[in-house]
Amino acid sequence: MITPAGAECVYYYEDFARGARRQLCRVPKDSRSDSWGASDCLRCPVPGILAANASRRLDIRVRFRRGRFGVGRRAEAEVWCTEHGPVISDPHVGCPECNAEADRLLREALE
Ligand code: SF4
Ligand SMILES: [Zn+2]
Repeated sequence: MITPAGAECVYYYEDFARGARRQLCRVPKDSRSDSWGASDCLRCPVPGILAANASRRLDIRVRFRRGRFGVGRRAEAEVWCTEHGPVISDPHVGCPECNAEADRLLREALE
């Protein structure tokens, strides 16, 4: 579904039919996360990560919170590979081990 920020996000749901006014973010949240508001979609990295990385092994957890000194608002995503653990490098690139595996399979298929 398209978020209020205009991005496609599989975790977003809204229902404005027949007077309803329901907006939900279903992404798994960090236990320390502030509660979600629709404006959080503006700063959320999740749609970009999902658009850049189609791996089915990615688990994402998001923490919404105020910035330093209570100023601003952030959405921080932690990303894991269900097979290889935390994705410490850029989550847009995905799990390095899965990428290496995919490269190897492609090379073998082309031989
Ligand atoms: S906050 Fe992020 S994960 Fe949640 S619906 Fe908006 S874009 Fe998707
Ligand atoms: Zn992996």
